[in-house]
Amino acid sequence: MMAEIKIHVFHTGEACVAPDLPFGGEHCSTIKASGAFAKKSERLWLPVSAYLIECSHGKIIFDCGWHRNMSPDGVFDKKAQIKSLGSLPLYVTNQGRIEKGLAIDEQLAALGIHPADLDLVLLSHLDCDHTNGLNLVADAKQILVSKDELLFAENKTPVNRIRYNADWWRSTKMQTFDWNGTEGLAGKSYDVFGDESLVMVNIPGHSKGLCALKITGSDGRFILLLRRWRLRPKIVGAADHIRHCR
Ligand SMILES: [Zn+2]
Repeated sequence: MMAEIKIHVFHTGEACVAPDLPFGGEHCSTIKASGAFAKKSERLWLPVSAYLIECSHGKIIFDCGWHRNMSPDGVFDKKAQIKSLGSLPLYVTNQGRIEKGLAIDEQLAALGIHPADLDLVLLSHLDCDHTNGLNLVADAKQILVSKDELLFAENKTPVNRIRYNADWWRSTKMQTFDWNGTEGLAGKSYDVFGDESLVMVNIPGHSKGLCALKITGSDGRFILLLRRWRLRPKIVGAADHIRHCR
């Protein structure tokens, strides 16, 4: 399948969240999802992933995982995380850790790829576990996120002021794209290269501009990279990777 497209799956650390964040459903309250009042023992460590896609259009990254500055020494580091995330409330909601060698640039280097060799970075959405590591690959030729997502992230609601930190992308060359197609249930999609090989499909709910990435080979077969934990256990059996916090 898709002999001409190679997809590398990178495990870029883990995030510790309340069960209601990934599994509470679309209408779960922000307070419950934040886990601010939940027992620490009930929290889950979930994998944070990113992808490298090698195709005729070059080398493309889909999401970036955690920045090395979340775990400068490769272990859980509260102080470093609060600084990287930009606020204590976001740290309370989303803790992370990333072992040495697992940051996106470190894994690319192991494959002999320098960030400047990347043709494009696509961001599914702007949450910390997808965008926090963007600065590690900021030398990529192009960085794109949906316009709806950037507008949502910058809408200045009390929740989004905590949820999103513009420091993750402000100093990069990140640009936005407008929908140019109608794929998906929301009827909003973006055909990245105009040949349907890579299509960002809007799956709003978790965030307004959230996109799944549909990758189609020349034989017409496709895979869909979804970026929401709550969909994964049912779809790809990721429950095997879920374990409780210490
Ligand atoms: Zn998210």
